[in-house]
Order: sequence, then C-alpha cells, then structure tokens
Amino acid sequence: MHNFSAGPGILPKEVLQQASAACLDFNNSGLSLLEVSHRGKDVIAVFDRAVSLVKSLLEIGDDYSVIFLQGGASLQFSMVPANFLNNKAAYLNTGVWASKAIKEAKLYGNTEVVASSEDRNFSFIPKEYSIPTDADYFHITSNNTIYGTQMRTFPKCPVPLFCDMSSDIFSHRFDATQFDLIYAGVQKNMGPAGATMVILKKELLQKIKRTLPSMLNYAIHIEGESMFNTPPVFAVYVSMLTLDWLDKNGGVEWAENRNRAKANLFYSELDRNSQFVGTVDLEDRSWMNANFVLTAPEKEAAFKTLLKQAKISGLDGHRSVGGFRASMYNAMDIETVQVLVDVMKSFEQNNG
Ligand SMILES: *Cc1c(COP(=O)(O)O)cnc(C)c1O
Repeated sequence: MHNFSAGPGILPKEVLQQASAACLDFNNSGLSLLEVSHRGKDVIAVFDRAVSLVKSLLEIGDDYSVIFLQGGASLQFSMVPANFLNNKAAYLNTGVWASKAIKEAKLYGNTEVVASSEDRNFSFIPKEYSIPTDADYFHITSNNTIYGTQMRTFPKCPVPLFCDMSSDIFSHRFDATQFDLIYAGVQKNMGPAGATMVILKKELLQKIKRTLPSMLNYAIHIEGESMFNTPPVFAVYVSMLTLDWLDKNGGVEWAENRNRAKANLFYSELDRNSQFVGTVDLEDRSWMNANFVLTAPEKEAAFKTLLKQAKISGLDGHRSVGGFRASMYNAMDIETVQVLVDVMKSFEQNNG
C-alpha cells in the first residue's frame, strides 16, 4: 500500500520492524518493552537517547529542555497559556489547530489574534501584522495540516516565540534557537500517537506564576525528566528509533532535500494537469500536506477507483474541508509520490 495518511502518519519500515521486535524482546532482555518498568536503566537510556537526538538534529544546546508528555498537541493548547499567559498572549490564526489553541488561551486571559486567514478558508498565511511588545509570547502554527499551508521562515519576534510544529518538525532546516518553546504531537512526522514532544528554553520556567495542577506544570515534568508519572514508553521508543533513522540518513538537511524534491514533483504535476487544482496560495504551499480538488468534482468516483487500483490510501481531505490531501511526511520516499503522479496522469488521459 501507498499510505498518504495525514495522521497518524507513516513510519520507516525498518522502524516498524525494530519496534515490533522490541514488543517481543526488548534489548535481549527476554522481556517485552511493553511489560518493563520505565525506571529500568534500558528505558531511561531510550529517553536520554531521544532527547540527545532531538538536540543534535535541531542544533540546540543545554539552555533548552526536551520532554515527552501525554495529552497530544491538544493539551499543549492549554498548558502553554496555563504556564505562560500572565499579562496577554498573541496568536496567529492559520487554521483549525491554531483556532483551538486560541480558544484555550482565552480561558486563561487576554488573548490577541494579531492576524487570521479564516476569511479565505485558511488558504494562505497572513504576513502583515504587528506583534504587541507587551505580550508574554507569540504563538504560531508552522504547518497547517488540514489546509496544506506552511511557514518555513519565521517572523522576527520582539517577545518569546512559541510554535506548534506537530506536522512538520524535522522536515526542513530552520534556526530552532529563535523559538522559546516548540511542541509537536509525535504522530505526524516522528512516531506513533501517544507522546507529545515539548522543547522549551529553561529560562522560561521563571515566568510560571500560576498555581498549577502538577500534571500541567512544565517545571514538574522537566524535574521528573518526562517520568513524573508513567510515561508513554512505547511512543517515545518508536520516536527514538525514527530520529535514529533520520540521523543515520543525514539528518534534517537530508529530510529537507528529499521533502523539497517530493513537493516539487507533486506540485509540478498538480499545476500541469488540467483535471486538478490546488486550494492554497502558491507561496504558502506545504511540503508536508498538499491539498487539491478535481476541476470536475462529479468525476470523484472515477478518480477514487484509480487510486484504489494503484493501492493508494489516505488521500481524502480532512472531513471539515473535503477534496484531497496528499501527506508526504519524512518517511515517505519519492517513488511513492511518483505513484500518485502517475495516477493523476492516467486520470487526465482518461478524462482529457
Ligand atoms: C494533529 C495536529 C494537532 C492535534 O494533535 P493531537 O495530538 O491530536 O492533540 C495539533 N496541531 C497540529 C498542527 C496538528 O497537525
């Protein structure tokens, strides 16, 4: 099968094999990874290795902490303002996930939406806005998974910059040190569902003013080295394997070259082919999720038949927007994108 699922996304085949093996026998212990204590030294070594891979792949130093939490990126929508919204927060509204983050922030205090692309169904990234200098932080969403828009360069920011990178973390090079906080549900580009990675600058911790439930307090999770409570060991293990795979292949630069090539291949066909049209502004197109519709929607069933014959799965658009969406995360190779491009070509020949 050729899996274009938007999330949970695909993982490298060798990672799936290693993960399966560890379910039966972890590190030749004769025990399943799913049945051992997270306090054991081999499990602690998995967490340490995952953290050190994150730091080396993103080129961040010891002024940052990296932790793995539960509750998805969705819990980060609440944890971020619970910990850091003291005076006011600024948000950029670029899609459903950003809107959900804004909704949660409003529960904690003054939340200013500096710009929104909602009036054009989130088909672009707003560029003209000013960030209030008295905000505690400015929150953005680098890749809008549902709509297929992406920011690969980031605004100069007079206040701490926070980012939801759930669907494009490790997909291209960027200066991670311009961010004070990055979070990502691991299930799009680095692992299975069940863990959320949070990277934050240690100096931010001084800004936590609220009395918080322990489970919502970043300082407590950092102090506990992601093991304040029983952590999602399997999800972190698979993330570690995926990061190891990425590192061995050439790291984020390798991923960037491959993702750029995949996106170029797909979008060139989209723009050439008379039967399809993209739904977002050219300059804001995502390399991770490419959204498109048929020029003749009544031919949808015929297109879907071709997809099925080619063993393509997961190409339906999000239930809130319809159409089609090709998700081309890190683990996807260019040959898989070529399979889709070939189907698009034969669809045009049949219908042109
Ligand atoms: C999938 C996704 C989320 C939601 O993640 P959960 O882990 O399901 O809470 C949030 N933000 C972005 C950008 C996403 O792609």
